Amino acid sequence: MLELPGGIRRVTFPLPNPPGHVHSYLLPGRTGWIVVDTGLGLPDLAERWRSVLLRLGGRTEAVVITHFHPDHVGGSADLAALTGAPVYQGDVDYEQCQQVWGSRDWERKTAAWLALHGVPGPVAEAIRLAGAAYRRFVRYARHPLPLREGERVDRWEVVALPGHADGHLGLVRDGVLVAGDHLLLGITPAVGLWPDARPDPLGDYLASLERTASLGLRLALPGHGDPIADPGGRAREIAAHHADRLQATLAALDGRPRTGYEVSLVLFPDADAPMQRRFAVAETLSHLERLVALGQAARAGDGRRVAYTAA
Ligand SMILES: [Zn+2]
Repeated sequence: MLELPGGIRRVTFPLPNPPGHVHSYLLPGRTGWIVVDTGLGLPDLAERWRSVLLRLGGRTEAVVITHFHPDHVGGSADLAALTGAPVYQGDVDYEQCQQVWGSRDWERKTAAWLALHGVPGPVAEAIRLAGAAYRRFVRYARHPLPLREGERVDRWEVVALPGHADGHLGLVRDGVLVAGDHLLLGITPAVGLWPDARPDPLGDYLASLERTASLGLRLALPGHGDPIADPGGRAREIAAHHADRLQATLAALDGRPRTGYEVSLVLFPDADAPMQRRFAVAETLSHLERLVALGQAARAGDGRRVAYTAA
């Protein structure tokens, strides 16, 4: 456990896949700890949390979820049971959480959608199976209290930071952002286009980065990796990275219609494992859709195949 300025504590849990770990933060509130994010629901997660809370002492006032990805929401039911504290989750985010983890249909739907974007059948099937393997590590709390932009949890203000997830939230107080996966050091947060999600996630994300740079932050506490001492500078760096990636995406297009899968092979030639290819295709599609929104690319589709050309 790491002690951070302002009495904030950070606990780190293992992940079976890169980046190999995820952080939760415990913020001192008026009547107890505010836990932000829960870790992936591996079998021993509840036991790990029990010993963390025992060591810290005091009650838990609230559990806050930044976004519904498995390493952040996966233990929210465990924590609710362990502490009796209310769980808060963004309303947009909880809707997607239910859609992805609450229905048996999600992997099939995603595989069909990937096929629409040119992913070959066997690859889509491998992705479907790999995705389904995550399901047993997600035990999310049902009926969380909804959270929206501008509301408060204790003395922390809720900010909406869509992009990495449509309903991604952060908490801000005195220039400190509890950032979830909105800002990371060393790696750039994945920004993918997914079925039944917002149409231009990279546009959302770039706007969220601009907003981050204007918040006058002095510290960001991310879900993975080290604390970020210059959040505004890091936001500008990540925005510049996506400007480069948009150019590379445009360069991969020519007069012939290209599927998201084909373009992903150019942009991410080494994404061999099924889940890596899944992220590569989603990330490529978010860039292609940004180019469409900018008028630099065109999308054509017939319900069986979607493809893009340079405009
Ligand atoms: Zn994460």
